[in-house]
Amino acid sequence: MNNVSHIPSYLSAEHLGPWETYLIQIDRVEPHLAAELRPLAPILTRPKRALIVDVPIRLDNGEMAHFEGYRVQHNLARGPGKGGIRYHPDVTLSEVMALSAWMTVKNAVVNVPFGGAKGGVRVDPKLLSMPELERLTRRYASEINFLIGQDKDIPAPDINTNEQVMAWIMDTFSMNEGKTAMGVVTGKPISLGGSLGRKDATGRGVFVATVEAARRLGIEIEGARVAVQGFGNVGEASARLFANAGAKVVAVQDESGSIANPAGLDVRAVKAFRQQNGTLIGAPGAETIDRDAFWRTDADILIAAALENQITASNAGGIKARILTEGANGPTTPEADLILKENGVTVIPDVLANAGGVTVSYFEWVQDISAFFWTEEEINARLDRIMREAFAAVWEAAQTKGVVLRTAAFVLGCERVLMAHKVRGLYP
Ligand code: NAD
Repeated sequence: MNNVSHIPSYLSAEHLGPWETYLIQIDRVEPHLAAELRPLAPILTRPKRALIVDVPIRLDNGEMAHFEGYRVQHNLARGPGKGGIRYHPDVTLSEVMALSAWMTVKNAVVNVPFGGAKGGVRVDPKLLSMPELERLTRRYASEINFLIGQDKDIPAPDINTNEQVMAWIMDTFSMNEGKTAMGVVTGKPISLGGSLGRKDATGRGVFVATVEAARRLGIEIEGARVAVQGFGNVGEASARLFANAGAKVVAVQDESGSIANPAGLDVRAVKAFRQQNGTLIGAPGAETIDRDAFWRTDADILIAAALENQITASNAGGIKARILTEGANGPTTPEADLILKENGVTVIPDVLANAGGVTVSYFEWVQDISAFFWTEEEINARLDRIMREAFAAVWEAAQTKGVVLRTAAFVLGCERVLMAHKVRGLYP
């Protein structure tokens, strides 16, 4: 049940897939678009291209197995497609469509010269051996080979894919093309043209965006209480950066459970414990709390860095934090958005908050193309500047238009995409 009576039930998570959520977000944005661009808005409500591929592989036991793969290019008006590849048993075309659309908006919000794309394979990679995973990756890469390329569409890691998977894709594409093509994927190992700073980039962007919001809301980072859902690439990096800045990480939740310490957890010790034991439960200096109680933590800042649809009508009302930062893609349902707004929680939306990853992917692509590599200090300084400028632009648009940050970010991003369409004109 939602606890704000005028919110229609069709906005609840049970009724909406990620693509429907995205369409609702576009609906909310359309009235705020510049009048000259509004007639073009339907372009955003359909992907430019969606490819479904069969990925047959030989298993180690000699049998053949089939997996379904996707690559969606939502919009290419501002540049080549850019977006990760996800391996997950629940991946669907509709999910990949939504994720590709969010990439279109995100890339435009931080003003990197990319369109939006995303890919995925419906597979549980934990059930495959390394050789099977390599065969799956290489066959999937071959099936989407004709769509990708450094000036066409540039994949990157997402859930359950990593730099090894990117290295296999880069190698497969290079073999098919007959040349070494470093710029075809980002998130590669450093030894293969990867960028320094990429690993922490999303968490760093989450941190910088939150600091910018906190400053404007009069919240001191030093001593601020922070709760973090998700303790992977994004969640752990942002928790560590908050702790380094003097904030207290008072609660952490991941797949294994939830832990808390009102005096502040030792993030490095929790990470080491998690790595050794495969669970958060029992980490030093931490008490175990209930999964639902995590959302009611007494905190100033809440970081959602796990999955989609985590903040819904059933837990949004209990959130005490003043800032909710979306490290994950789509963690807040449209229904929860309305509840958070009523309760005065400032939501820093995914398309802004987690754009640090794609920003450093852009740096990686630029470095590969120019065959000239930057220092980590240069990369972090450029990332911080882009995040701060994007935050300032979104904040100002929100103040001017009297809308929440999500709507403001979407307006900014969508207007940049639609302006590219307008000046390019309609072919033929
Ligand atoms: P990851 O696999 O490294 O970490 C995911 C974390 O979420 C893990 O700690 C896992 O235990 C936790 N988790 C999974 N299911 C959970 C559940 N039901 N309840 C609580 N915790 C749960 O992934 P990541 O790279 O950190 O990505 C996290 C989110 O951030 C995803 O939505 C991803 O799309 C988004 N994102 C990632 C990047 C990036 O650069 N890695 C960039 C932009 C957005």
